[in-house]
Amino acid sequence: MRSRAAVLLESPGRYRVVDVEVDEPKDNEVLVRYVASGLCHSDVHFLTGDHHGPLPFCAGHEGAGIVEAVGRGVATLRPGDHVVASFIPSCGRCRYCASGRMNLCQLGAHLQVGPMPDGTYRMHLDGQGLHQFLLISTFSQYAVVSEHSLVKVPDDLPLETLCLLGCGVGTGLGSSTNAAGVRPGDHVMIVGVGGVGASAVQGASIAGAAVIVAVDPVAFKREMAQKLGATHAFASMAEATDFMRSVTDGQGADAAVLAMGSPTNTDVAEAFAAIGKGGTVVVTGMAAATEPMGIPVHLLELGGMQKSIRGALFGMCNPPADILRQIDLYRAGRLKLDEMVTRRYRLDDIGVAVDDLLEGRNIRGVVVHDT
Ligand SMILES: [Zn+2]
Ligand SMILES: [Zn+2]
Repeated sequence: MRSRAAVLLESPGRYRVVDVEVDEPKDNEVLVRYVASGLCHSDVHFLTGDHHGPLPFCAGHEGAGIVEAVGRGVATLRPGDHVVASFIPSCGRCRYCASGRMNLCQLGAHLQVGPMPDGTYRMHLDGQGLHQFLLISTFSQYAVVSEHSLVKVPDDLPLETLCLLGCGVGTGLGSSTNAAGVRPGDHVMIVGVGGVGASAVQGASIAGAAVIVAVDPVAFKREMAQKLGATHAFASMAEATDFMRSVTDGQGADAAVLAMGSPTNTDVAEAFAAIGKGGTVVVTGMAAATEPMGIPVHLLELGGMQKSIRGALFGMCNPPADILRQIDLYRAGRLKLDEMVTRRYRLDDIGVAVDDLLEGRNIRGVVVHDT
């Protein structure tokens, strides 16, 4: 079948909206009609050339939609079901899934940009195999994806909002609650207030942090962070660090979450300086592939002050469980999702959405597909 889709033909480059061909689902695969897709900084890395992958590919990795058809062997979904597409699949069987670390599922080991796990393609452009970003390609009206990439969600909630659960919300929320292990009374710094950072702020708030300092150079994002639970907001990490020391008897934060779209070695070093004894720096944003090796931190501080630097992928979430828990928080009014969607776009206007992201005009911009 034909589908309108935003594809990248060259890198650096810009997304082009074209007609692509989508196959029928094969075994354990599902044809989804996407209703909406968030735009995340990881979609932009390939445009700028920060990341490289095989071309052409269809981007988008934070979507929600409705099941159109299922292939043989699909036991958990049927046509009409509402689903969130998780940017990391979870097979439930590999050693990582089986030990409760579904965000590290072996099916995800060969994703990012490529064909389906069996090495063949379900999307085609002018007869050529079209790579699917993170196996899901949510910037296409229709896509065939693995059953393991989909989480069934209740059908009484807006998919234009639930799409955020496919990447940004779990990534941010889990960075605070799982990776940083924020506890009641903690002092937490969140750096970068996009979709991930806004969710990290909310995660810290839900976990009971006493002081939540948001850092972003954009004034509107600092205001939004404070509406979503930040107790203070600053334009730079230097100002935030000074403040954090002033309210912790000089000690520093319990945790710092780097939620900006493209963190650098220098950012990690600054955050490392901002945390106190026993503190944790969580590196959540995806660095540019061009960022050189080497974080300039003092080893004596690492051991002598028992500091930690840890990476977190998808907020260390288990998508099939945690996406439903996030929905419960949303229903309870404790997780603000609608407020995070600051602008909606038609797929044809994806170029504007990218420009707005790069200019810091949104918490989350969402592409709504034409029906
Ligand atoms: Zn993302
Ligand atoms: Zn697995």
